[in-house]
Amino acid sequence: MENEGKELNIPQCFSGAAQLLLYTRYDDPRIAGWEQKWITEWNVQLVHPWFPERTIKIHKHFWPLFNDALTELELLGLDSEIKSCDSTFSIVHYADSPVLSVHSWGVAIDMNAADNPVGSAGKWSEDFIAVMMRHGIYCGQNWTGNKEPMHFAMVDG
Ligand SMILES: [Zn+2]
Repeated sequence: MENEGKELNIPQCFSGAAQLLLYTRYDDPRIAGWEQKWITEWNVQLVHPWFPERTIKIHKHFWPLFNDALTELELLGLDSEIKSCDSTFSIVHYADSPVLSVHSWGVAIDMNAADNPVGSAGKWSEDFIAVMMRHGIYCGQNWTGNKEPMHFAMVDG
C-alpha cells in the first residue's frame, strides 16, 4: 500500500484509507463550491424532535443513512443514549498531522463527547452500535488502538 501511495503521489492530507476513499469519490472538500455541492443543512428535529441539535450540516450521501439509523434507534428506545451532538461538518486536520479528518467531508458526527473522550473505552451500548452498523455507520468505539468513541461515520476512520 505504501508503494502504491508513492506511485500515485497522493497528497499527505488524503493519506488515510478513509480519506483516500472520500477524496476519490468526492474530491477535495477545500475547493470552491464543494460545500454547496455536497453539504446540506438538515433540520433533524423536523423528523426526530428529541435530537439534541435542531439543524446539522451533513453530506448528502450520509444523511439518509443517519436518518434511518435515528429512526431505528427511536423504534428500539435507544435514542435516549444520545445526549449531545458535538461536531459535524468542518474542515479540520488531526492534531499534529497533515491528514484531513473525515469530518472535512461531512460524513462524520461526534456525539456525547463528554462521556466518550478520545482514548476512552466508550459508553455506547452494543445494541446502539449494532443499529448504526446496520445502516453503514461505523463507530470509533470499535476501533482497535486509540479509540474515538464519540465518532460515528459512513467510513471506518
Ligand atoms: Zn469525529
